[in-house]
Amino acid sequence: MPSLLISHIAAVTGAGSGIGRAIALGFAREGASLAVIDIDAETAKKTAAEIDGEGGKAQAFTLDVTDAKACRAVANEVAAKLGSISILVNNAGIARRNAITADPDAVAKDWQDIMAINLTGAFNVTQAFLEQLRAAKGRIVNLGSIQSFVHIRTPSSAAYTVSKHGVLGFTKALAAELGKDGVRVNAIGPGFIATPLNANTRANHPEYVKVFMDHTPLGRAGTPEDIVGPAIFLASDLSAFVTGTIVMADGGYRTV
Ligand code: NAP
Repeated sequence: MPSLLISHIAAVTGAGSGIGRAIALGFAREGASLAVIDIDAETAKKTAAEIDGEGGKAQAFTLDVTDAKACRAVANEVAAKLGSISILVNNAGIARRNAITADPDAVAKDWQDIMAINLTGAFNVTQAFLEQLRAAKGRIVNLGSIQSFVHIRTPSSAAYTVSKHGVLGFTKALAAELGKDGVRVNAIGPGFIATPLNANTRANHPEYVKVFMDHTPLGRAGTPEDIVGPAIFLASDLSAFVTGTIVMADGGYRTV
């Protein structure tokens, strides 16, 4: 009987799709109750229904993580409907592919959107749930990337790399500040994971996928399920003395 997260209540943002959906399902299978949060009400409901269908407990919540006031409202709603959370996964994120030399208006919009969702979004949601997490001596898991360390040789917005470096910095700062409250804060650094985020790249640019694969000792793209184990590790007591770090799940990308 899986039980690593029994009696935990977890909130996962961007849980209607890809990695967030897989983490929500994986946490539920370990006994957690889930607040399934996404900007898309329909996909959030679908993930929550899948969890219910497997005998788990979940509620769907619609939230744009860039809206700080809405984040506070949803945090209150989650506490009222499910209970105070002990685990937060800041997963909602977007990627864009314009080079810095592309059309200035497009690049500026990419910058604003990516920072607002990937970095400020994680801040907004964390701040909204902070008192719940402190009360529970909880755990925060942020979604970083190989781009928390390096830029990549396939088209990728500079803003994405900056945002994911920021996510790692945010992880370290929170771990340092919240350790005295018993709150642990870590990140996961996925490599190239096959999700809707990169569906266009996979469908139309095999040459970009090859660049990734040539740089990945395990020689394959990851799946959303490849991120579930690291997420359970960081959210559970298995990682009781782990904080302020990033667990890479990148097929070895950063070793070559
Ligand atoms: P995904 O399948 O596109 O899922 C992201 C989810 O976040 C979607 O449901 C999306 O909704 C939602 N979302 C977007 N903007 C939002 C907002 N403002 N507020 C709330 N939810 C929002 O992408 P993924 O690949 O699973 O990515 C999940 C995380 O992993 C991201 O932080 C990403 O940067 C990171 N990551 C992914 C990879 C990879 O190779 N896939 C690698 C490294 C890191 P919509 O679909 O409606 O926009």
